[in-house]
Amino acid sequence: MPQLVAFFKDMSENQSVSGQPAPETRFQDFGLSADILRALDDQGYEHPTPIQTQAIPVVLQGKDVMGAAQTGTGKTAGFSLPVIQMLLQHANTSASPARHPVRALILTPTRELADQVAENVKNYSKYTSLRSTVVFGGVDMGQQVVALKSGVEILIATPGRLLDHVQQKTVNLSHTGILILDEADRMLDMGFLPDLQRIINLLPTKRQNLMFSATFSGDIKKLAASFLNKPVTIEVARRNSTSENVTQTVYHVDEAVKNEAVVHILKERNLKQVLVFSNTKIGAGRLARQLEREGIKASAIHGDKSQHERMAALDAFKNGQIDVLVATDVAARGLDIAEMPCVINYDLPYNAEDYVHRIGRTGRAGASGDAISLYSDKDERFLTDIEKLIGRKLERVPLSGFVPRSAQPAERGGERRAFKREDMPAKRSGPKPERSPYASASLMRKELSDPWFDKPYEPSPSALSKEKPSSTGAATASAKNSKRRLAVLLGGSVKQ
Ligand code: AMP
Repeated sequence: MPQLVAFFKDMSENQSVSGQPAPETRFQDFGLSADILRALDDQGYEHPTPIQTQAIPVVLQGKDVMGAAQTGTGKTAGFSLPVIQMLLQHANTSASPARHPVRALILTPTRELADQVAENVKNYSKYTSLRSTVVFGGVDMGQQVVALKSGVEILIATPGRLLDHVQQKTVNLSHTGILILDEADRMLDMGFLPDLQRIINLLPTKRQNLMFSATFSGDIKKLAASFLNKPVTIEVARRNSTSENVTQTVYHVDEAVKNEAVVHILKERNLKQVLVFSNTKIGAGRLARQLEREGIKASAIHGDKSQHERMAALDAFKNGQIDVLVATDVAARGLDIAEMPCVINYDLPYNAEDYVHRIGRTGRAGASGDAISLYSDKDERFLTDIEKLIGRKLERVPLSGFVPRSAQPAERGGERRAFKREDMPAKRSGPKPERSPYASASLMRKELSDPWFDKPYEPSPSALSKEKPSSTGAATASAKNSKRRLAVLLGGSVKQ
């Protein structure tokens, strides 16, 4: 955290975002209560980030907001601090649940993000008598029900589990005057639109709405138009650009030896805290296993992993027990791991916008970063798409000093090391495209996404076992895929 604070300080004092000088703002300037300022002090935050500087006063005025922000920009504090401030008028210490209705609802697409947001909200409100809790699927509902029944002013939820609670009548949203949609683009990608609609219908019509999204596709604009009321648009970065602080290197490597190439890069440079992106769950798992066999502390994180496994991998990565996290795009999205010295694209993403998101994990707020991509001949088209999107040519270079084992001479008197099958991922993993490998990037993206994340609302078994299904609980299978998204890489944040 001190490193993070130092970066923010540096950023506030010296950096500019989107070419504009960052004003020297302090949290005190927003008129936040002493209890909130004290909590921020405990966090070690000295200056607001650009998104906070812009969002906090607007939210405090009660206006709707459409914010362009990715995880890592400080957006969570950008919306939660003013919300906590506004709710202070309702803060009370009464034991009666009726005195603690849900007044602000924060919806997030993934459990991880929900958990992170909830932790932030808890930290920022710890000196107030406001209550908050988080509900997400994949875990028992019992404890969530207890927390909800005792009353909370701020509820953080994933849409599916929230609807489970609605169905069980363990939550009442009739006093919820503030709605926040976090990572709205990802919610649409995951087919949560019907669930969102259902949830919005349960809220009072007169309310303040805040929507944060990393991208602004036509679908997102449509969603914004449908439920935001004269929103103030807040954007702190250039669109579809990649940070100048990030060194982008593209190595040409045979598909068959990509795993070895990653090992070579990690060992050669003695890299720690590296996020490696794989397009598929199988590829991610296989690469993590190979790295471990090579003595590199690594773990994979994707939708086939249980909630517990993913949380454990993330914690181990954050506290340095593992050096490399191999992730799929969907699993990595929303994780509070933005300040990487290096990201590696083991696979080039099928969707050029994902490239911008991926490398946006590094080189933020003045820190330098390395984005390394491996590509083989058949990926040329993906690379061209990326270049078109970011508006610059990426130089393709051979990976110097890398000699695949298969090309190394056998040691004298000895045998070449016998390879295990998994050592030789000769083919790109994942479903075989029907026509050309480039025929339909969006189709492949859909097929390769983690189904666990893609599910629209289905009442969880625990919800079903206790309640008869109601009309609100019926699953809607129409996972609406959003159209191509416009990537927005936001400057302005650093983390450890
Ligand atoms: P977020 O984009 O909300 O996920 O925040 C990214 C990280 O930045 C989190 O770890 C926050 O705790 C941290 N953070 C948010 N605002 C500030 C700030 N003003 N100064 C220092 N760190 C911050």
